[in-house]
Amino acid sequence: MDRSWIQLPTRGRREYINGVKQFMNFAIAHMKPGSDLIPCPCMDCNNFRKYSPDQVEDHLYANGMAKDYTKWTDHGENDDDFELEDDILESENEEDVDDVVEMLNDFQAHDDRESQEHVPIMEENKFRRLMRDAEQELYPGCRKFSKLSFTVKLLHLKIIFVVATSSFQRCLS
Ligand SMILES: [Zn+2]
Repeated sequence: MDRSWIQLPTRGRREYINGVKQFMNFAIAHMKPGSDLIPCPCMDCNNFRKYSPDQVEDHLYANGMAKDYTKWTDHGENDDDFELEDDILESENEEDVDDVVEMLNDFQAHDDRESQEHVPIMEENKFRRLMRDAEQELYPGCRKFSKLSFTVKLLHLKIIFVVATSSFQRCLS
């Protein structure tokens, strides 16, 4: 999100006006339940005083936004938000499918060497099913996810967002 508008010396410019709108939308979307006031990040108030969104908007035009307030932590922005976004984007590439297949191949190669005759039939069947799911498209024509990589991805998201098992299962069904 571009926040260079905060540094603009004049506040009549369209960039500044759009920026204030962007901030107000963000702040209103993240208002604490049961409160109709938000901290005012104008240069005078510096988030030490709270006003209604309308008044805050007025202050932002009259006084300007505090120039160092580029991360809106007093308005519900999480310090980790940016890193989390990067992490998700990074892992959402098309190599996911290959990675899973490769991982299973490594595992199998290792398994063959170490204990070929000791693998119980049930475990072997499970493994074959995993291999099959890893190679199977999630739906016909889907090249981004295999059945297995999609499941792994879902579980990854479940962990990141700490979803309770019950709501996660409801989501799936
Ligand atoms: Zn203010």
